[in-house]
Amino acid sequence: MKLNVDALRYMSKDDFRVLTSVEMGMRNHEIVPAELVDRIAGLKHGGTYKVLKNLLKHKLVHHDSSKYDGFRLTYLGYDFLAIKALVNRGVFASVGRQIGVGKESDIFEVATEDGTILAMKLHRLGRTSFRAVKSKRDYLLHRNSYNWLYLSRLAALKEFAFMKALEEHGFPVPNAVDCNRHCVIMSLVQGYPLVQVKQLQNPDNVFETIIGLVIRLAEHGLIHCDFNEFNIMIDDNEEVTMIDFPQMVSVSHRNAEMYFDRDVECIFKFFRKRFNLSYREDTDEHDGSDSDLEDNGRPSFSSIAKSTGHLDKDLAASGFTKKDQHDIEKFIDGGIDEDENTSDDEVSTDTNCPRDEGYGDVDGHLESLHMSHQSVDLEPTVSCNDNDKVENL
Ligand code: ADP
Ligand code: MG
Repeated sequence: MKLNVDALRYMSKDDFRVLTSVEMGMRNHEIVPAELVDRIAGLKHGGTYKVLKNLLKHKLVHHDSSKYDGFRLTYLGYDFLAIKALVNRGVFASVGRQIGVGKESDIFEVATEDGTILAMKLHRLGRTSFRAVKSKRDYLLHRNSYNWLYLSRLAALKEFAFMKALEEHGFPVPNAVDCNRHCVIMSLVQGYPLVQVKQLQNPDNVFETIIGLVIRLAEHGLIHCDFNEFNIMIDDNEEVTMIDFPQMVSVSHRNAEMYFDRDVECIFKFFRKRFNLSYREDTDEHDGSDSDLEDNGRPSFSSIAKSTGHLDKDLAASGFTKKDQHDIEKFIDGGIDEDENTSDDEVSTDTNCPRDEGYGDVDGHLESLHMSHQSVDLEPTVSCNDNDKVENL
């Protein structure tokens, strides 16, 4: 999605006040009546209505009169609120080019005051192509708390908490810098998604490293659930970094073994196809004494899960609650409830279907840049706070 932050520079305190009021109204309204926005914002002399017009012009809110007359935030409006909050906090100072686009996110470069480039991931849960949406939409529509703002924020919060915990336990992940609303700021990974890599000096080493990561994750109590060539970055030294964590589950999840096997299978399949490697798939090599491997050479979930750490439990204590996990699992196919009616193509439970398939760029070029390399300085003149309290604006 195009992210033009030009308008951000010209936004006044009142603009942000009204935008934040729309956000607050959306906590319990799908569409927020203008009178309510006005009441929350508390601007004098009908100021809210004038500002709403301006926000509408810049596509930060959307006017909706389908059910009743009112406004809702657009992705861009929500982006502005998050970006402003992070800029005010001094996390970064300018937004640059887009470096990635997924089904559920847009990734941009941002620069700090001293010129360090970081990655900004804007979560877009509820984007229409999202696979699980279809089956869940009706259900979700009736629950105000499940709108895309909430889900995207939850995804960001989860990703941030997991990235931080994984980093602390020595996993090769980006450095988790900060998080606000649906936005995660992390270090920029040098290198490319594995899907773009045509040749490796040491495919065996890379393969072993990657499978080792799936195993080590499980030993720490976690399963990535979307572990594939789109979410593994590799640099010129063939060092591996894993990314993309909103769908991770605990090894105690009822479908844990299936997710684990699926992650493993994706890697086996990719390396077999791309690098023509066959890994100890010959069952004759196994006499059954190697308890960590299945007969087909795959790591065995049941023997690994025995020796689990409890990163999954630590994470539950880190502010990302059980309810959060439950809510997000309702939406992400990594944790779709099988008892619920889901039809054919919505939820993949087979072992060879990376969720990300379809947007990797095999020519080694990242997604085209909507921002045309230019950076825009954002002057932190308005103090938008993190607690969404309009009073503090
Ligand atoms: P999604 O959940 O939408 O799949 P990802 O986290 O996988 O989002 O990011 C999408 C793409 O953006 C990745 O495939 C990668 O090319 C790029 N990307 C994501 N995070 C980073 C990062 N920290 N550094 C560099 N590129 C990144
Ligand atoms: Mg991804």
